[in-house]
Amino acid sequence: MRIDVATIFPEYLDPLRHALLGKAIEQGRLSVGVHDLRDWAAGTHKPVDSAPAGGGPGMVMKPDVWGPALDDIAAGRADGSELDSAMPHLERLRHDELQGVAGNSYDGEGEDSDLPLLLVPTPTGKPFTQDDARAWSHENHIVFACGRYEGIDQRVIDDARNRYRVREVSIGDYVLIGGEVAVLVIAEAVVRLIPGVLGNKRSHEEDSFSDGLLEGPSYTKPRVWRDLEIPEVLTSGNHGLVDKWRREQSLQRTLERRPELLHDADLNKADKKFLEGLGWTSA
Ligand code: SAM
Repeated sequence: MRIDVATIFPEYLDPLRHALLGKAIEQGRLSVGVHDLRDWAAGTHKPVDSAPAGGGPGMVMKPDVWGPALDDIAAGRADGSELDSAMPHLERLRHDELQGVAGNSYDGEGEDSDLPLLLVPTPTGKPFTQDDARAWSHENHIVFACGRYEGIDQRVIDDARNRYRVREVSIGDYVLIGGEVAVLVIAEAVVRLIPGVLGNKRSHEEDSFSDGLLEGPSYTKPRVWRDLEIPEVLTSGNHGLVDKWRREQSLQRTLERRPELLHDADLNKADKKFLEGLGWTSA
């Protein structure tokens, strides 16, 4: 997968070089280019913003800067800085393990799936979900446009539909200062699902939201810590009982913390019986 990020704070994206993402870069499964938007701004002070049309507080990011930047990035002619992995010591994979990612794109109706995907973080966007992360983990090329101030002139997003499949996405019902942190959130969620990036496929298959439920609590050694014991079933060696306990913990936690998720979750008879025992009603 190729990720390009356009921003006025390139250094904000440095965390993309670390941990699993750094490992994905090192393995050749991911490459990341970071582009300083000011490279497309004119004049001595290279302004990227201007007063809002119609008046009002704050500043709006200029279309005559963003437009050429997104054109150049889509065409692959933008010279950004290429992020290297912060883990250069990682053991290289064997050649036959470097398979890259299948070009299985995430299409909307009537869209050309060969176009890169442009993700525009904004609090006014559609909420980003684990389903999006799963779908976007099959993309070949994702471009992020990081807004600042009051955001980007809307015509940039409308015009970009000629060169990109565009999604405006929110990472939650609150307002950040800029889109960079949202990019880190979305990129982490997407890249960990690229086939081969997580060592153990089961770990994301059993994550929260993957089956519509929250994951239950996790424990590790030692068996007793500060007089607190691991639930006995986890040391029983009985995998059937462990699976049943985990499922029930997951159901209980979802009921307590996010009951609305249960409406769309795939619940079997035993799940419903267990939940009803906790006072849940399906209506
Ligand atoms: N005036 C905008 C509004 O009220 O919708 C808020 C702009 S915000 C101060 C500046 C930038 O931060 C946005 O353009 C966007 O890139 C980013 N941002 C802020 N909150 C976000 C959120 N919840 N999800 C994704 N991006 C966000």
